[in-house]
Amino acid sequence: MIRSSVLIRSPWAMPAVIVGFCAALAAARADAQTAARGTTARGTPPAAPAAAGRADYRSQHFYVHTDISAAEAKDLLERLEYMLGLISVYWQKPASGIIEMYVVKDLAIWPAGSLPDEDGRLMIKAGGGLTISQVLGNTGKSTVYAKADHGTPQHEAVHAYCHQNFGTSGPTWYSEGMAEMGNYWRKNDAAVKIHEGIVAYIRKSEPKTLNEIVNGNEQTGDSWQNYAWRWALCHLLANNTNYAANFRPLGLGILNRKPVSFEQTYGAMADQISFEYVFFLKHLTNGYRADLCSWDWKRKFLAMAPGSSRVVRVMANKGWQPSGVLVKTDVEYEVNATGSWKLDPKVTKPLTADGDDAGEGKLVGVIFKDYQLSDEFEVGATTTLKPPSDGQLFLRMKSDWGSIGDNTGTIDVKIAVAK
Ligand SMILES: [Zn+2]
Repeated sequence: MIRSSVLIRSPWAMPAVIVGFCAALAAARADAQTAARGTTARGTPPAAPAAAGRADYRSQHFYVHTDISAAEAKDLLERLEYMLGLISVYWQKPASGIIEMYVVKDLAIWPAGSLPDEDGRLMIKAGGGLTISQVLGNTGKSTVYAKADHGTPQHEAVHAYCHQNFGTSGPTWYSEGMAEMGNYWRKNDAAVKIHEGIVAYIRKSEPKTLNEIVNGNEQTGDSWQNYAWRWALCHLLANNTNYAANFRPLGLGILNRKPVSFEQTYGAMADQISFEYVFFLKHLTNGYRADLCSWDWKRKFLAMAPGSSRVVRVMANKGWQPSGVLVKTDVEYEVNATGSWKLDPKVTKPLTADGDDAGEGKLVGVIFKDYQLSDEFEVGATTTLKPPSDGQLFLRMKSDWGSIGDNTGTIDVKIAVAK
């Protein structure tokens, strides 16, 4: 087997339980014969001989050698098949071939020779995973080595699926971002659900720019922190309604080696994406719904004439919503909000735009100008609004960003220029 480089880095100080960093190796061959030989050699390595604590398990698409318990293996195979079903639909290609995996809990019972590749052992030892693929054209044969934690086998299985079915998993930002997403993918559920350590890391960090993520000189297996940024970008693009429609075609183009690029797809929307990306990172929390918090870039905003008024409907289960009003600091606005909403459908008592005693559920506002937001300010059911700055007025129900999805109800907000 020819391998030009081995993308393995030293283990990091951060625990791999946060995210299984990995190295995905696609050993592309220029020479078909070499590839064929390599595939034969590696295609069906002998299963580890039955040994104490180790066993082999099969499902429709996976062949797993592992030392986890039979019950754990059953659970793992179910999760892997479930995820494979989701990503096969997403990437519009049924999984072909069997993905062979070595999922290791205790390396001590895997003697020399029991793992076909020593690099796999090194990666498991470091607490991560490795996918080694023999790629020929648009197909491949992958073997996965993974620490038996919750996320790493799933992450690696995404790489393996991509390599076996497309012969590539794309550039690092996409390959690793999507593998991390696959780790967390659930059907019909767009809510963020990631390790709290990643949430905490992202929220306290200076955001990496889109350019750094997409074009940075970064490699697979570099650090779990970089994986977090890649996940964040892919999650946002896959779920935000402004970008989702173009994200899947972009990914399919990448995997099918079409002349596509991030810049080509999103270049014209760079300012909007940057704004929403930073917003997403700032408010990231488990339960966050990038789809419900998508920014409305289409709404036209107009200044209001003296004596005029308008009514805008604000939904409880969405993020910032455009009022259509271009407010000015030297104008005062009379606001009267009617209707009711709930922070939780299980709570029977609806709230007015004044919210509850703690201020939750209150109508709040923010001013958007030049891709910057003012501080959030309270509006409530009745107020005379003195805008903190000129710009576009956005409104929402004050609610934890992680639980917007279960809010119900609407408020009609009448905005009139004060006499
Ligand atoms: Zn990976």
